[in-house]
Amino acid sequence: MLIVMRHGATEAEVRRVIAVIEEMGYKARPMPGAQRTAVGLVGNDGRVDASRLEGLPGVQDVIHVSKPYKQVSREWKSENTVVRLGGAVTVGGPEVVTIAGPCSVESERQIIEAARLVKEAGAVILRGGAWKPRTSPYAFQGLGRPGLKLLAKAREETGLLICTEAMDADGIGYVAEVADIIQVGARNMQNFSLLKIAGRAKKPVLLKRGMSATIEELLLSAEYLLAEGNHDVILCERGIRGFDTATRNVFDLTAIPVVHKLSHLPIIADPSHGTGLRDKVIPMARAAVAAGADGIMVEVHPDPEQALSDGAQTLYPDQFAQLMREIRVIADVIGRRVAEPAGVGA
Ligand code: PEP
Ligand code: MN
Repeated sequence: MLIVMRHGATEAEVRRVIAVIEEMGYKARPMPGAQRTAVGLVGNDGRVDASRLEGLPGVQDVIHVSKPYKQVSREWKSENTVVRLGGAVTVGGPEVVTIAGPCSVESERQIIEAARLVKEAGAVILRGGAWKPRTSPYAFQGLGRPGLKLLAKAREETGLLICTEAMDADGIGYVAEVADIIQVGARNMQNFSLLKIAGRAKKPVLLKRGMSATIEELLLSAEYLLAEGNHDVILCERGIRGFDTATRNVFDLTAIPVVHKLSHLPIIADPSHGTGLRDKVIPMARAAVAAGADGIMVEVHPDPEQALSDGAQTLYPDQFAQLMREIRVIADVIGRRVAEPAGVGA
C-alpha cells in the first residue's frame, strides 16, 4: 500500500502517517519525491484498514498495491480449484457443467418432469428455488421446505445433483441437509452474516454476483466463505444493473476471464438472469462457454408460459436440448467437454 501525500504536506503530517502505520503494526518507508512524498506500507497481510490513513491530514491518496482479498486470489493458490460434487461431477476442471431447471419448484409434477427433461438433454445438476427472493411480497415466494423435499425426490428419480438457494440462516441449515450445492443469490452476495454461516456449512456454495457488485466485491464475498473454512466455492456471473432497458441486466461476459485471472475459483454463467429474455439466453450461454465459463446455469421449465416466476427468460425444453448440442461443439473447440449425466453419453 502506498500513501501519497499532498503537494506541500508538512513534515509533521508525514511523521503522523508513519506513526499510524507503525501503530497498526506495519513498517513505513517514506519516499520523498520532487513534487510530493509517498509513504510505503510494508508487511500488508491483506487486512489493512485504509480508512485510518485516508482521513489523515496531508494525505491525498491511498493506493492499494496488493489485492484486498487473499485466499481467493491466484497469488495465494496458482492452480485452479476443482470443486468435487457427488457422482464424480467436478466444477473447475476440464468439464463444463450444466445446471438447469425451473426458476422455482412449483409442484411435484413440474419438478420431476423438469428434472427428467433436463437430464435427457444432458444436464448434470437440477436447479429450482424452494425459497424465492422476489421483488414484490405478493409474488410467489416458493414452497419452502416442501419444495426441498420435492427436489430430493427429483434427485432420487433422476440421479441429478441439486442446486437450490438459501436466503437466511435457517434456510442454510435445511438446504445443506438436502442440496448438493447451496446457492447464495445475488441479493445476498453481501449479506456477510449469511456468508459466514455458509462458510461453515459442509456443502459447496454457489455464490452469485450481486446486481451492483464489482468483481472485487464478489471476490471479497467469496473470501468470507474461504475465511470460514469452506473452500468449495463456485462463483456465478448473472448480470449487473445497467442503464439500458433492452435486457433485464447487463450480462458481463468479461467477468469470466477477469475472474479466472484474479482467482483460482471456478466461475459459471447464468445468462437467464443475465439477460431476462429467452431468445437472448441461448447466444449468451454459447458465448459464456466460449469465454471459458466452468459451467452454465439455465432456467428451463416443462411449460414456461405457466411458470410462477421468470417465465420470460425460461427456455422451452427443445431449446435447451438444442443449446446442449451446441455447447458440446463449442467446448470441444476450446479443449473442454460438457459433463454428461451418469449413464448418458460417452
Ligand atoms: C435464481 O437463481 O433463481 C435467482 C433468484 O438468481 P439471482 O440471485 O441471480 O437473481
Ligand atoms: Mn429465476
